[in-house]
Amino acid sequence: MSTSPEEEHPVKAFGWAARDPSGHLSPFNFSRRSTGEEDVRFKVLYCGVCHSDLHSIKNDWGFSMYPLLPGHEIVGEVTEVGSKVKKVKVGDKVGVGCLVGACHSCESCSDDLENYCPKLILTYSSVYHDGTVTYGGYSDHMVANERYIIRFPDNMPLDGGAPLLCAGITVYSPLKYFGLDEPGKHIGIVGLGGLGHVAVKFAKAFGAKVTVISTSPSKKEEALRNLGADSFLVSRDQEQMQAAAGTLHGIIDTVSAVHPILPLLGLLKTHGKLILVGAPDKPLELPVFPLISGRKIVAGSGIGGMKETQEMIDFAAKHNITADIEVISTDYLNTAMERLAKNDVRYRFVIDIGNTLAATKP
Ligand code: NAP
Ligand code: ZN
Ligand code: ZN
Repeated sequence: MSTSPEEEHPVKAFGWAARDPSGHLSPFNFSRRSTGEEDVRFKVLYCGVCHSDLHSIKNDWGFSMYPLLPGHEIVGEVTEVGSKVKKVKVGDKVGVGCLVGACHSCESCSDDLENYCPKLILTYSSVYHDGTVTYGGYSDHMVANERYIIRFPDNMPLDGGAPLLCAGITVYSPLKYFGLDEPGKHIGIVGLGGLGHVAVKFAKAFGAKVTVISTSPSKKEEALRNLGADSFLVSRDQEQMQAAAGTLHGIIDTVSAVHPILPLLGLLKTHGKLILVGAPDKPLELPVFPLISGRKIVAGSGIGGMKETQEMIDFAAKHNITADIEVISTDYLNTAMERLAKNDVRYRFVIDIGNTLAATKP
């Protein structure tokens, strides 16, 4: 495409984008398409800051496209709907997560698993059907096909609910799919960050016993008292880890960096399942003997389909599950990214786009 991001579409838009792998974010003028007949346009009010946004602005995974405008935990208020839209109307509170498109004809799409469509289109740094690059939620408004619009339940706070659109579904989906949602299961959650802390809440809501496995002893009190975890293991403490050997039915591993999985496999019972959702930039070492000796499973899971995302948010609303957040203003974004890289957030930054983005417009 030879036209600039500012001119390729008819509707002016404004947000914060990274221009190169330094990851530095700054004000960015671009444009969005006009509202198509199946499209929903909304004013963005809040957007969560996922560790995937940080991986992406730094090009950790090698497929970032610049300028890169992140954000895939987006909530706001509908301002316009296309003539064929049935799901929502002007004024409704809605969200968009990690996906804005897929082929709608493959096996995965037919099974409501757009997230596993080979042609999936991510909310940012992806190429849309019209050939233009997608831009995420650190921006004044969004437009998306109604299939990718999530209805926000009335009693769900917009700021604390936003992170569920990625962090929530990413942990909810594997808990369900791998049968770790049955009451009485003993579940381990590795990494108490954005994903991990909501995983504790969902697992508890399913009736599980929950053990947090963390590198941060300072998170113990909060995990037990505020998040409702039943026990807490410091992963670097070999004695504690040995004492808990063979106790877990399943583990959701949310760690964002390369880390050893051998100690985690040791925590699993026979037939235990280690589900990897964290996305480190380099491969992990997979020791085979501990798998063979207990018929254990190591698997991965990526976000969730649209139907399940709606189910997850409705479940969360019913069980009063929201993320524990630190609301920030847009001009704090670069500091927030530095803090996220240092594991210094309890437990999710959420940008108050509605009240603070416009003031950063040059
Ligand atoms: P986050 O808030 O930064 O949390 C990650 C947690 O991992 C940290 O709080 C920390 O917990 C632990 N950790 C960090 N560095 C570590 C290290 N070197 N060794 C061991 N533990 C470490 O990140 P997030 O937003 O939850 O995202 C987590 C990962 O999931 C990222 O890689 C992200 O890209 C990925 N992700 C994947 C999907 C998917 O669909 N599969 C969706 C969203 C995000 P403790 O202090 O408790 O150790
Ligand atoms: Zn995410
Ligand atoms: Zn498909």
